[in-house]
Amino acid sequence: MTDCLFCRIVARETLADIEYEDDAVLAFKDIYPKAPVHLLIVPKRHIASIMELQPGDAEVIGRCLLAARRLGESKGFAERGYRVTVHCGPEGGQHVYHVHFHFLAGRPARA
Ligand code: AMP
Ligand code: ZN
Repeated sequence: MTDCLFCRIVARETLADIEYEDDAVLAFKDIYPKAPVHLLIVPKRHIASIMELQPGDAEVIGRCLLAARRLGESKGFAERGYRVTVHCGPEGGQHVYHVHFHFLAGRPARA
């Protein structure tokens, strides 16, 4: 049992509403949505933060962004668009220290 929430979701030890999965990436609904569609896209392998990224992590991070594109298309936002954000560290608003991309869609993003 790991103490990382998103590793537990990847391992199916904590329940989540999963929207996409492949061998390297998982996407699930944010439990406190801040937009009509709010998903979190995570690498299955634990990486704590963008602030700790290594060159060897580049592929899986790219895979997360490809999952965002795929989700945008499958959910009907390919034309309207959506926002993908990452919070990095304490002053970046990161609360869960397992890299995740917020996928936000369904209403115009504020600048
Ligand atoms: P961040 O503040 O960037 O670290 O984002 C963490 C996100 O995880 C927040 O938007 C939370 O709403 C979300 N979150 C926390 N616990 C869960 C959970 N058990 N399942 C899904 N999302 C969660
Ligand atoms: Zn983790």
